Amino acid sequence: MRNLSVKLRIAVWLTLLMALLAGLLLAFMLSISSAVISQTAMSQLSQTVRSNVSQIGMSEGKLELRDGFYFYRNGVSTLVYSQSESLLAGQIPVSFTAAEPFQSGTTRTVEDGNERYLVLDVWLPMSWESGVWVRGLLESPDNRQLAGNLLTMALAALPAFLIMAALGSYWIARRAFRPLDQITATAKEINEARDLSRRISLPSGRNEFHRLASTFDQLFERLERSFEAEEQFTANASHELRTPVSIIKGACEYVEKYDETPEERQETISMIHRQAVKMSSLISQLLSMTRLDQGTEVAHMERVNLEELLRALCTEQAYDQERLTLELQPGLTAWADPVLLSRLIQNLIENAFKYGKPGGHVWVCADSRGNEIQLRVRDDGIGIPDEQQEKIWKRFYQVDPSRSGAGGAGLGLSLVWQIAKLLGGSMTLESVPDVGSVFTLHLPLPPPAGADR
Ligand code: ADP
Repeated sequence: MRNLSVKLRIAVWLTLLMALLAGLLLAFMLSISSAVISQTAMSQLSQTVRSNVSQIGMSEGKLELRDGFYFYRNGVSTLVYSQSESLLAGQIPVSFTAAEPFQSGTTRTVEDGNERYLVLDVWLPMSWESGVWVRGLLESPDNRQLAGNLLTMALAALPAFLIMAALGSYWIARRAFRPLDQITATAKEINEARDLSRRISLPSGRNEFHRLASTFDQLFERLERSFEAEEQFTANASHELRTPVSIIKGACEYVEKYDETPEERQETISMIHRQAVKMSSLISQLLSMTRLDQGTEVAHMERVNLEELLRALCTEQAYDQERLTLELQPGLTAWADPVLLSRLIQNLIENAFKYGKPGGHVWVCADSRGNEIQLRVRDDGIGIPDEQQEKIWKRFYQVDPSRSGAGGAGLGLSLVWQIAKLLGGSMTLESVPDVGSVFTLHLPLPPPAGADR
């Protein structure tokens, strides 16, 4: 049974269930029909005897049976006995030999050898001291024979019934499981052909299989998108790494082949250094991104004094202090991981300088607004056109790669987005081309003091 397909198993169980129900129905019918037959026989006996009793009278001291009295009617034999129980009228059926004592008014079954009789006695008083017994006898219907007949008929019909039940059940199971076959076939095709663009697409419906198929379709959709993103990511990463490597390789070959002046040699070494820095920054960005993707980068959340953190960050980094203004709400604290938060702010400030106008200015502001803390990095630089503003958060996306400089590969803002999410916040951007951009980090307010312990 364990190795049978689910369809066959359902068919077998349904057939067994139907056979069991048919058996129960047969038993029920047998018991009902024998009860009905007994009941009918009893009322037949009672009615006949009582009708005969009404036809008995006395005329001139003698028993008189009027015209409506029948000794044998509806299978009922009616006998009239004297008070001393000697037969006055009627004929006892040959097969009834039992010496059954008289009891007025109760119908009972009397077994006599192979025969069974229903017996009803009625005491009919004729005067103060005397009366007659009227006895009705009805051969009891043979319920066993009826049961035997029904059983024989049922057994004869059983094989045909079972075959029909089995075929019907299998047909129903096959029809019901057809969508599952379609789901399996599509999943197999996707696996064998490695074609994630295929979908099950069951015709519309709302049952369990349709829900399963639509869940699978959504899963395939997600898988397809994530495979595409992964392929794209690998292609972009290799491309970004290959460029500096080939520049370094070319420069080395050139130095080996040609005699260069010391100035030229110095220039080549500087170029190799720039490319190595680009590679190193790219590799560390890729590593951070992978850690954030895999969830291995854990945020160690704590109360961070934003004023202190931002002042320290802006003075430690080699930013042009003349061009940088801090506008900080005193004593403002945030709930964040200081290392990740510093990485996020650094990325935004570096971009603000990188994409600023020559001699332009950068503002770093932090304050609490409503139920959040806002940290804004504003510049008066080249700005970002409306249609590009959604895209700049994507990996490797650059509005104008020639502006990104040696270290840029279009990963910085994607990292910023991921870090903001990990810190429980979000990023927004307002930008107008040739006017400037404001990148805002929104963080929830820190938990009340003491709640974090
Ligand atoms: P990149 O390494 O190119 O700087 P980012 O992910 O940091 O990559 O930024 C993506 C793109 O968004 C940049 O190439 C640039 O075109 C645009 N961008 C980022 N910051 C600014 C800014 N402050 N002003 C104008 N454009 C910006």
